[in-house]
Amino acid sequence: MATPRKEPTFRESVDLMFNRAVALMDLPPGLEEKIRVCNATYTVRFGVRLRGQIHTFTGYRSVHSEHMEPVKGGIRYGMGVNQDEVEALAALMTYKCALVDAPFGGSKGGLRIDPREWDEYELEMITRRFAYELAKRDLIHPSQNVPAPDMGTGEREMAWIADQYRRMNTTDINARACVTGKPVNAGGIQGRTEATGRGVQYALQEFFRHPEDVKKAGLSGGLEGKRVIVQGLGNVGYHAAKFLAEEDGCIITAIIEHDGGLYDEKGLNVEEVRAWIAKHGGVDGYPSGKYVREGSKYLEEACDILIPAAMEGVINLGNAERIKASLIIEAANGPVTAGADEILRAKGTVIIPDMFANAGGVTVSYFEWVKNLSHIRFGRMGRRQEEMRHQLIVNELERLDRHLGDAWVISPDFKRKYLRGAGELELVRSGLDDTMCGSYQQIREVWHARQDVEDLRTAAYLVSIGKVAASYRALGL
Ligand code: NAD
Repeated sequence: MATPRKEPTFRESVDLMFNRAVALMDLPPGLEEKIRVCNATYTVRFGVRLRGQIHTFTGYRSVHSEHMEPVKGGIRYGMGVNQDEVEALAALMTYKCALVDAPFGGSKGGLRIDPREWDEYELEMITRRFAYELAKRDLIHPSQNVPAPDMGTGEREMAWIADQYRRMNTTDINARACVTGKPVNAGGIQGRTEATGRGVQYALQEFFRHPEDVKKAGLSGGLEGKRVIVQGLGNVGYHAAKFLAEEDGCIITAIIEHDGGLYDEKGLNVEEVRAWIAKHGGVDGYPSGKYVREGSKYLEEACDILIPAAMEGVINLGNAERIKASLIIEAANGPVTAGADEILRAKGTVIIPDMFANAGGVTVSYFEWVKNLSHIRFGRMGRRQEEMRHQLIVNELERLDRHLGDAWVISPDFKRKYLRGAGELELVRSGLDDTMCGSYQQIREVWHARQDVEDLRTAAYLVSIGKVAASYRALGL
């Protein structure tokens, strides 16, 4: 039996993928290294008095590239958080932002904590103290470093961070722009919570608009009826699965969570599973579908589309050979290790890479940041004006209609939709859809045009590294 190769760390995995791509580029000496390396990682250890004693926590904020500022990237809460992980995630943020033209450098943060062990008040104390440590070093700052939610954090934590920054910077008129992913009533934007999952849906819709690409994945037709397996029914996985099932007719045949997996070839009800998890803490005991404790086994079930949406490294040297899906969309960051990527490529599996697939989050974060800096909700100035102009046309058509008799009628449904001016949510979804379509087209152009580029990941790296290199050149490097 062949000796299994050693699995690289997450950071090494990202670097290996980066290296594969830069080998195909003609970058000036030194620039390649400048782009690859992580500029700085700050480690903070702080104590918080809780439950009658001082608890010490360890957190990180890593800045990968400052070719554009502010730098941007989520804050993750989990016991697996470490320096290697935040540096890998910060690097991915650099490439992701460049790819979707979000004008940010890459950063990422993490706190080593199990959020399930602490109640809401305690989590607020811990989050505020972490935010204080970062903000006093400008590692949270509207023009220098803007965090967002990631695994284990959500809009609640972002609201605490924004408020902590505001308390420390009482005269900063742009204080709200120091973090994105906030609740709408605390300066957030409509559509941010769903954004990453929504982006996964838009990415798949765009992929299925190109029959040659669908054929490369050994599939045919559209999304309707495609069997989908989702790992992680958190923010990203839940929204992706929900939209694909409800709006595109996909069948969610398996859901894998931290405590096991559910399988039902007729399809699982995403809302019901989500509600069960919220009530019981996991999928165990869910009344329909076949439950297995070792949920990752379901990654290996036959399906059309596999969506790892939980964490990194879940498709690795240990299971890559047994993965049957011919299309994988990386909703999580780094779910496929560099070694597994090689095995899957050899098998002809098409992988829609993380830096593109989950870029919906940072794209809508960008919109939120712009909203905060401009101090006005998108659509506020133009909506009524747009509605009035549409009303004028409808009035005129109805006048002609009366003039021509019963020859034609404006359907009430058309009228309702046409008369409605775009509000913030419609504008955000439109901007996100446009970004996902445009970015996919850039990647697929490289994928199809270059003989030496065999996969979408390498194509995505080529596009994004090219943009980062152009920014550095513009800075005179
Ligand atoms: P989340 O905390 O909301 O959800 C993660 C889910 O995965 C949870 O339901 C958790 O129980 C489950 N999970 C944990 N370990 C698991 C395991 N071993 N097997 C199966 N399920 C497991 O996190 P999220 O925000 O949805 O992030 C998920 C992934 O998406 C991460 O890789 C994150 O970096 C990436 N991502 C998130 C965003 C965002 O906007 N939230 C943006 C881009 C990328």
